[in-house]
Amino acid sequence: MKKTVLITGAAGFLGSHLCDKFIKEGYKVIAMDNLITGDKRNIEHLFKLEDFEFYHHDVTTFVHVAGDVDYVLHFASPASPIDYLKIPIQTLKVGSLGTHNLLGLAKEKNARFMIASTSEVYGDPLVHPQKETYYGNVNTIGPRGVYDEAKRFQESITMAYHRFHGMETRIARIFNTYGPRMRLNDGRVIPAFIGQALRGEDLTVFGDGTQTRSFCYVDDQVDGLYKLLLSDYSEPINIGNPEEITILDFAKEIIKLTGTEQKIVYKELPKDDPLQREPDITLARNILGWEPKMPRDEGMKITFEYFKSLTKEELFKSEHKDFSKHIRS
Ligand code: UDP
Repeated sequence: MKKTVLITGAAGFLGSHLCDKFIKEGYKVIAMDNLITGDKRNIEHLFKLEDFEFYHHDVTTFVHVAGDVDYVLHFASPASPIDYLKIPIQTLKVGSLGTHNLLGLAKEKNARFMIASTSEVYGDPLVHPQKETYYGNVNTIGPRGVYDEAKRFQESITMAYHRFHGMETRIARIFNTYGPRMRLNDGRVIPAFIGQALRGEDLTVFGDGTQTRSFCYVDDQVDGLYKLLLSDYSEPINIGNPEEITILDFAKEIIKLTGTEQKIVYKELPKDDPLQREPDITLARNILGWEPKMPRDEGMKITFEYFKSLTKEELFKSEHKDFSKHIRS
C-alpha cells in the first residue's frame, strides 16, 4: 500500500518541490493551498497523475481529509519579508491556527507531522553561526515579528503535541533556499536581483550590503527535509547551506552571472533585517547524514535559466502581487 502525505503550501516554492519528491518516491500526495502566495502552475504538471490530488483550501479554517494519511507536512505560509508585511494577520494565523488545525488532523489520523520552521526563529542573531541550542533574538512587536513569532509558536505547539499526546513530530529550521519556481515578485533577494538584471534595472542592495545570508539549493533542501521526516529525531534541526556571503558580494555574483551592465544602487535596510545568518549544520550532518551538495554557482545558473524562461509579460508584470482580493483577516 502506498503511503499518503498531505502537503500544505503545496503550490508554493518549497511545497511544489516537495510534491515532486514524494511523487517520485512513490507516495500518494494530497496537496493543499489557498493560492494567496502560491501558484497553481507550480504543480500543474502533477494534476494528471492518479496519485496526486489538489485541495484549494485555507488551513486556518477546519481541515478535513478523507481516508488514511501517514504524514502531514505543514509548509503553508507567506515566506518573504514583503509578503508577510503585506498580509501580517494571515501570516500569524497560518502559523498558529493553521498549525493547530493540522496537528489535530495528524493526531486524528495517527500521522507523523512535520513543520517548516525557519532561521527567523533566531531573529537578528547574536550567536554566529546559529546552532539549534541558540534561543534567538527576535523583536516580538517589530514588523517581522508576525512571521518570526508565528513560527516560534508553531515550534512550541508542535513540541506540546509531541510531549502531551506522544505524537511523532519533526521540526525543520529552514535557512534561505532558492531555485526554480521562486516567485519573481516576492521581494526576496534572488528573484529581486535576477528580475532587475533581466529587466535592465539597477540592482537594489539594502543597507551597505555587509549583511550576510547562506543560500541552499532547493534539491538539497528537499533531500534534507525528506531525511528528517524519515528520521526519529523530534527536536528542531537546521537545514541549510553553511556557505555564507555578504549581500553586496552576492549582487556582484549576479551581475557576473547575468551579464547585466546595470549598476548597484543602495536602499534603506528594512527594520530588523538580520545582519548575519549562517546555519551550523553539525546536527543535520550527524543525525541525518545530510549536507548540501550543490555549489552556489551551479545552482544559480539553473535558477537564472528558470527566470529567463518566463515570458516578457511575466517579467514586466512583476510589481508586487496584489493580495487585496484575498484579505479576510
Ligand atoms: N535584499 C537586498 N535587496 C533586495 C532584496 C533583499 O539587498 O532587493 C537583502 C535583504 O535586506 C536581506 C537579504 O537581501 O538582507 C535577504 O533578503 P530576503 O528578502 O531574500 O530574505 P531574508 O533572509 O531577509 O528573509
